[in-house]
Amino acid sequence: MTEPREGPAAGERLDELRTSLGRVEQRIARACEVAGRDRAEVTLIVVTKFWPASDVRLLAELGVRDVAENRDQEAAAKAAACADLPLRWHFVGQLQTNKARSVLAYADYVHSVDRPKLVRALSAAAEQRGGDEVAALVQVALEKEEDGGARDGGRGGAAPEDIGGLAEEIMRAPGLRFAGLMTVAPLEGAYAGRPAAAFERVAELSRSLRVAAPAATMVSAGMSADLEEAIAAGATHVRVGSAVLGVRPPLR
Ligand SMILES: *Cc1c(COP(=O)(O)O)cnc(C)c1O
Repeated sequence: MTEPREGPAAGERLDELRTSLGRVEQRIARACEVAGRDRAEVTLIVVTKFWPASDVRLLAELGVRDVAENRDQEAAAKAAACADLPLRWHFVGQLQTNKARSVLAYADYVHSVDRPKLVRALSAAAEQRGGDEVAALVQVALEKEEDGGARDGGRGGAAPEDIGGLAEEIMRAPGLRFAGLMTVAPLEGAYAGRPAAAFERVAELSRSLRVAAPAATMVSAGMSADLEEAIAAGATHVRVGSAVLGVRPPLR
């Protein structure tokens, strides 16, 4: 992480973020209009991975309320540095069971639930933590559809045939509530290069799960490159990083 910016540099960065956030906001508004959806149906989650806590602070100043991270170590430090801000923290990365407790110290949403062992670890950590139930989303990996999950592209997620069982486990797990589905547009398999089709498929999976779990309304889909396709397919939460913050900052 880079050092907090102060003085004129912070002012410049604030202007930069205001501009990029405005552009993303316009894209979301336009996509909602095209899809005939109310803008209020879509929540922008800004993915702040790689970027310093000082940027999170500026984003909060600009009205951002939902932020996401994908690595616990980085997220824990940032969340601690921003504990005074009115933010909701979402965890969207692959998660090891031994990190469940650390993640739930700051996150109220975990988008990347993809195996029963992780459900159990999150449930135990949520019970220990107390307070509000943790919103757990099952991450769908459409690229695992044809091979029953035998292959792991390294990006996590459960095969579509496994998500019903995982949802049931979450619904039975103390401390957790089943909130919906998350996906990343596949880079391989039948949906590679077809984000619109991928997001439609996930929306369909979401509709069938909601027969048994009507409150699981979250569909977390769409990033900088494909938020329009996600909104067209019914996404309720888009996770946008680089279009707001820029590409990864130089390593030092
Ligand atoms: C980084 C990341 C995003 C944001 O990606 P951008 O292309 O930078 O918008 C969204 N979701 C997950 C799971 C991520 O890791």
